Amino acid sequence: MRSLITLLFILLVCTCVRAQEDKDARPLVVCSASIFADMAEVISGDLVRVESVVPIGGDPHIYEPTPDDVRLVSQADLVLINGLTFEGWMNELIANSGTRAKTVTITEGIGTIESEEYANSSDPHAWMTAANGVRYAENVRDALIELDPFNKEVYDFNAGLYIQQLQDLDAEIFRQIESIPAARRILITSHDAFRYFGRYYGIQVEAALGTSTDAEVQTDDVNRLTNIIRNSGVPAIFVETTINPKLIRQLATDNDVIIGGNLYADSLGEPDSPAGTYLGMLKYNVRTIVAALRGETGDVGVGLGPSSAQQWLLLSIILAVMAGAFGFMVNRLNRGIA
Ligand SMILES: [Zn+2]
Repeated sequence: MRSLITLLFILLVCTCVRAQEDKDARPLVVCSASIFADMAEVISGDLVRVESVVPIGGDPHIYEPTPDDVRLVSQADLVLINGLTFEGWMNELIANSGTRAKTVTITEGIGTIESEEYANSSDPHAWMTAANGVRYAENVRDALIELDPFNKEVYDFNAGLYIQQLQDLDAEIFRQIESIPAARRILITSHDAFRYFGRYYGIQVEAALGTSTDAEVQTDDVNRLTNIIRNSGVPAIFVETTINPKLIRQLATDNDVIIGGNLYADSLGEPDSPAGTYLGMLKYNVRTIVAALRGETGDVGVGLGPSSAQQWLLLSIILAVMAGAFGFMVNRLNRGIA
């Protein structure tokens, strides 16, 4: 009986949520990834409903859309994408959804860096500098105004504030990077998402994987990174939240350096984390990189299995428990016989 009531209650809640979703009369803006959804949320205030296709923590390079994503895009009034082959699967998703919504590429007008892996294509990670973030913000603002011209003033106002914050942060990042001793301004990380960041703010970037994440790491790359770590004397290397940390952990252990942080490149952090917004993510990254390369932090422990001492302790406890149980059983059996 109780389970029946619970089931009815769940059904009622679901129906209410559905009804609320359907009642939301605001235009729906669908973004490919969480970083762009945050930009759209900030600039739109609460005048539109914003959804991201790739969930937080997902890897947009290799994401596989679900039937729910098709349904979401089919209901969109505006679709915002990064383009530059970041989320190539979006084209098919948009086509399959049958949506008539306009798709806007929000990297329009940004001076791109050529991809090192693929001929005639650009590195997609343009959002990694706050200066480029300004251009993203302008493109999102213009797309919202075109969708909803009635609220132009609100979008202009919100974008103006946001752009000011991005420009302030841009200057702050330059100051922060300059505080790292020049010889240690080397950022070694999982995949090549930091080339815009490195070129613009003046820090050498070396990555285990290329600008996409769907490739295998080559022995050459491991040797190259090992040489760079040894020759430069950097105290720390970095992992990224959307990528398996195994290789970077191995490199750190082999070369006696620490993993200085878990950086955000292709996804925001959870909403209540310091990297839960685009501005927060840029701030978190630079703070983490600077502190670790200045030698002010310890290893973040990512990808670290239990140490051998911990493994021995665990084994000892298991053996002790088993010996105790064995002793208890022998004792009981003896008593039974007596
Ligand atoms: Zn990436």
